[in-house]
Amino acid sequence: MLEVLRRIIQEVNAAVDLSDALEIIVSRVKGAMEVDVCSVYLTDLDHNQYVLMATDGLNAASVGQVRIDFSNGLVGMVAEREEPLNIQSAKNHPRYQYFPETGEEQYSTFLGVPVIHHREVMGVVVVQRHAVERFDEDEVAFLVTIGAQLSGAIAHAQASGGIDGLRKRRRLSDERPILGVSGAPGVAIGTAVVRYPHADLSAVPDRRADDPEAEELAFRAAVTAVRVDIETIVERMRPVLPAEDSALFDAFIMMLDGDSLVEKSVERIRDGNWAPGALRNTVDEHVNIFEEMDDPYLRERAQDVRDLGRRILQYLQEGDTTRIDYPADTVLVGEEITASMLAEVPTERLTGIVSVSGSRTSHVAILARALGVPVVMGADDLPVTRVDGAEIIADGYSGRIYVNPGPMVVQEFERLVREEDELSDGLKALRDLPAESPDGVRIPLYANTGLLSDIGPSLNSGAEGVGLYRTEFPFMIRERFPSEQEQYEIYREVLESFAPRPVTLRTLDVGGDKALPYFPIEEDNPFLGWRGIRITLDHPEIFLVQLRAMLRASAGLDNLNLLLPMISSVDELDDSIDLIDRAYNELIEEGVAVKRPKIGAMVEVPSAVYQADVLAKRVDFLSVGTNDLTQYLLAVDRNNARVADLYDSLHPAVLRAMMQIVEGARRFGKPVSVCGEMAGDPASALLLLGMGVDSLSMSTGSLARVKWVIRTIDAEKARSLLQEALLLERSSEIREQINTVLEREGLGGLVRAGK
Ligand code: PEP
Ligand code: MG
Repeated sequence: MLEVLRRIIQEVNAAVDLSDALEIIVSRVKGAMEVDVCSVYLTDLDHNQYVLMATDGLNAASVGQVRIDFSNGLVGMVAEREEPLNIQSAKNHPRYQYFPETGEEQYSTFLGVPVIHHREVMGVVVVQRHAVERFDEDEVAFLVTIGAQLSGAIAHAQASGGIDGLRKRRRLSDERPILGVSGAPGVAIGTAVVRYPHADLSAVPDRRADDPEAEELAFRAAVTAVRVDIETIVERMRPVLPAEDSALFDAFIMMLDGDSLVEKSVERIRDGNWAPGALRNTVDEHVNIFEEMDDPYLRERAQDVRDLGRRILQYLQEGDTTRIDYPADTVLVGEEITASMLAEVPTERLTGIVSVSGSRTSHVAILARALGVPVVMGADDLPVTRVDGAEIIADGYSGRIYVNPGPMVVQEFERLVREEDELSDGLKALRDLPAESPDGVRIPLYANTGLLSDIGPSLNSGAEGVGLYRTEFPFMIRERFPSEQEQYEIYREVLESFAPRPVTLRTLDVGGDKALPYFPIEEDNPFLGWRGIRITLDHPEIFLVQLRAMLRASAGLDNLNLLLPMISSVDELDDSIDLIDRAYNELIEEGVAVKRPKIGAMVEVPSAVYQADVLAKRVDFLSVGTNDLTQYLLAVDRNNARVADLYDSLHPAVLRAMMQIVEGARRFGKPVSVCGEMAGDPASALLLLGMGVDSLSMSTGSLARVKWVIRTIDAEKARSLLQEALLLERSSEIREQINTVLEREGLGGLVRAGK
C-alpha cells in the first residue's frame, strides 16, 4: 500500500498544473481502491461552493458544472465536519443532493474525505461503488492518507492556477495574494529574478530565451559533452564491470541518441523557453511516463532520466558565462535564497526578496534587514518555476505576495511605496538624535553586524556602538579556520572604526544552522546539539586563538566587550571565564597592553532564563538572544517555514521569560541588553523599554524605526502598556494592543505598509 501511495504522490507532485494533478488523483485512486468512481471537489471561496473539478466514473461533461453550496449535499457535510463520511446508501441520506448530469444514481456507497491544508478545507475527495456494503476501515484509512498527503500538492497547484485554471494553464495573475511570513519590513514592487541552487533541475525556472538559436547550440553542446563523459566512463569500466551493469550506460547513450529527450527539449527551446527550462520540462515528462509503468525495472529508469538531466544541466550551467542581468528593481525569488545569492545582486538593484523556505530569523533575512530590503519568507505555495520575469509585489510587513497583480493592486502598492519612502526620509532625520523618551529615559541603540562591509552602514545609521558582532561570518567565508593574525585584523578594524564607542564581539557561534564548510557537523538535531560555546569549550585551541585575537585587537582602544553564546549552565560560564583569563594573562606576560574586557553571557536557552541571577553574578552584563530564546521556549524551529506562524517573540511566555531575566540581572546590579531581532521590532521594543532593558542592539535597517518609537512614547506609558500586556494570554492580543497604541500615536507606518 505504501508503495502505491508513494507513487501517486510522486506523480501528483510532478504534475504540470492543477488539472493534470487532479486527473492523476482520480484515475490512480480509482484503480488502487478498485472503486467505480473517484471525484475531487474543490472549494470555491468566491461563490461559497464546492465545484466538481475532476472525476473518473461520473459523466465527464459534469466537470466544472456541478456546484454544491457550502451547506448542501454530502460533499458539503464532509467539509463542514472535517472528517470522513462513510455511507452505505447515499440516496437515502437526508443530505443527499442529486445532480442528474453526473449519472451518479447508479452508485450506492459513498466515502468522502476532506482535503485540508493549513487548517483550511481545500476540497473533498469522494469514492463511490455500485456495491451495497460500506467501505471497510482499511479503505477509509487509505483515502484519509491520500487526502492528507495530497493537500500540499493541491494547494500548490491551486496557487498556480486556481479553480479557473482547470482547463488551461491560466496566466499567473491574481488579486488574491500568496501567503508567506514577514521577513523584513517594507514593500517591494519589482521584477522577479528566480535563483536556484546549482545542478538542481527541479528548481530551474521557465524563462524566455532572448536568442533561441544560441540556446539550442548550448544545449546540443552540453548533450555532446555528457555523451563523451559517459563513453569515457564506459571505456574505463568495461573491463571491470559486469555486462549487465554497463548496460545502464548504454541505456544512457540510447536516451541521448534517441529523439525523445534531446529533440523534445530542442522543440521547447524553439518554442521560446531557455535551455535549462526546456530540459526540466522534458525530463519531468519522461520521469512521469516511467514512474507510471508497472514494471519495477522500467520504473527505476525514471531515476536515470533525472540523473541524465542533472548531468546536462551541469554543463549548461558551466558554459553559462552570461552574468545574470539584474533589473533595476530586482526581487530575488527562490526555493531557498542564500546569503551568497543576495550578495551577488548589486545593492542598488535589490528591491526585495521572496524565499519559499526559511523564516524571519533565518540569517538571510537578518542580512536583508541590515540592508533595509523587504523580505517575505516561507512562501511555500509560490510556484517558483513559473514566476521568473513576472511583476511581483512583496509586502514584508504582512508576508503577502502578488504575482502579476492587477492594476488596482499595483496602484495601491505604489501609493504605499511612496509613503514608505516618505517615512524613511523622515527616519533619516532622526540619525543623530538620541534614543530618549519624551519623559527622559535614554536607551542606547547599538548595531548588529558581522561583515566588514556592514561597518560603513552601521556607522552611518547613528548606532552608538556594536551590540553584537557575529564573528562566525568571517569564519564562514574561508576555507579553514582564520589565524590569530587574520582575526586580529578583522576585529581591530571594527573596534577602531567605532572607538570610543563600545563593540561587543561574540565568540564563535557555529553549529545549529550555521555550518563551516571545513568543519562539518552532522547531527540529527543540530539546534539541540553541538553548537556555540559547547564547541569552543571542547576546542580550547580554537577558542584561545579567537580570544587572544580579540583582546589584542582592543589594545589601546579599550572598547571591547566579550559575549559568550549559548550558555546553558554556570559551569560553561566559569570555564569560559577561565579561558578568557588565561588568554588575558598570556598577553600580559607577553607585554601586550590589554585591559580585561567586560564579559557578557547570552541568555538564549530556557535554562539560562531560570538561572539569570547566578549567571549575572559572574559577568558584567547579560545579553538576551531572543531569536534562539523564542525558538527554544516555544519549541519552534526558527528556520522552518511550516511553523513560522507559531514563531512569535511577543508570545506571553517569552515576555514572562524576559521579565525574569531582567529581575535576575537587577538582583546583582547588572545591565541587560537585547540583541535578538525582537529588539528591532518597533512594537516589541516598546515593551522592552517598559521592562527597563538597558540597551537594544539590532540590524541597522531597524534602528531609526525603533528610535522613532522611543522618542515618541513616554517610558511611563511603556511601563503601563507592559503591565497590560502581561495580563493578556495570546501573542495576537498583545500585538493588537501595541499596534493600536502605535496607530494612535501616528506610528502605524512602522508596523504595516504605508505611512
Ligand atoms: C539570537 O539568538 O537571538 C542571536 C542574537 O543570535 P543568532 O541570531 O546569531 O543566533
Ligand atoms: Mg543565537
